Amino acid sequence: MIPISILCQQIFDGHNGISAAIFAKENLLANVLSAIPQGSSREEWLQALPRALVAGFVKTDIEFQQKGETSGTTVTFVVIDGWTVTVASVGDSRCILDSQGGEVSLLTVDHRLDDNAEERERVTASGGEVGRLNVFGGNEVGPLRCWPGGLCLSRSIGDTDVGEFIVPIPHVKQVKLSSAGGRLIIASDGIWDALSSDMAAKSCRGLPAELAAKLVVKEALRSRGLKDDTTCLVVDIIPSDHPVLPPTTPRKKQNVLTSLLFGKKTQNSVNKAKLSAVGVVEELFEEGSAMLAERLGKDFPLDTNSGIFRCAICQVDQPPADGLSVNSGPFFSPASKPWEGPFLCTTCRKKKDAMEGKGPSRPTVIS
Ligand SMILES: [Zn+2]
Repeated sequence: MIPISILCQQIFDGHNGISAAIFAKENLLANVLSAIPQGSSREEWLQALPRALVAGFVKTDIEFQQKGETSGTTVTFVVIDGWTVTVASVGDSRCILDSQGGEVSLLTVDHRLDDNAEERERVTASGGEVGRLNVFGGNEVGPLRCWPGGLCLSRSIGDTDVGEFIVPIPHVKQVKLSSAGGRLIIASDGIWDALSSDMAAKSCRGLPAELAAKLVVKEALRSRGLKDDTTCLVVDIIPSDHPVLPPTTPRKKQNVLTSLLFGKKTQNSVNKAKLSAVGVVEELFEEGSAMLAERLGKDFPLDTNSGIFRCAICQVDQPPADGLSVNSGPFFSPASKPWEGPFLCTTCRKKKDAMEGKGPSRPTVIS
């Protein structure tokens, strides 16, 4: 069972239609939770979460592909459990953390071909081509895109018609805030095209979360004019069983809104030298590889007693006779090294090979 004090926030920014965004919204959370081992303790569930997020994202992508629709979506998926914040993302929406020390950090990585050389290399190595749109006279215009498909992103959920090198494997980062708490600002690319992380954080400090989100959008509009989507979500993490303000802070006459666990960060004027000692953010986990073997690990528990294999992605049970054994790697990709990850069912294994660009005639890609 998952403890009840957990908050989950998600932002989806769809393209080429809204069906992928809607599908992800309706299914992603359940798919992530189904990949958390049964009976996990509070500690264990947080440790299992990064891997479950990978499984849940890939499962959701496979299910959406099976519908045969063509849209795609970015996902920024934020889980807050006490002081621990876990963020999984594909695409170019961002989540930033404004810690009480006044330090602003990025918890996501942009999967935008223009900004991410590593992703350009991966897409090319997996069989895609990266280039700009060609117009009259061979002039190249606009952002870098991958072909076929012409998408500017290198990761998303959906985009069935674009190519398997656009993968749904999220960048995952897990941090632990100090007991001083902090503020998360989660927003789609339209905001970040106009504002830096610092600008967004500064534009709304001291305001209640809901008002802060509106102000960030307003600030983006003022500085650049918004052309694209403008979703923005602000979450303050101030558990109520801790003092909201450090003892040295002069109290102001503002409302201190605290919900059961999470509430508003109150305006304060404590000097920053003091706060930075309090506001230290501990990094627990960060991984962004697009290789499933690296993301799912080798130590997946196998239910050996029942003789049944459970797929590490879709969680479907399969008797060994119907499936592939754990190390039957050469079956799908003769030239590759054996699969070193956990058991995958036939469908999920095909998906893995496709994402890595392993077709029958394609040379093996070893990163
Ligand atoms: Zn599966």
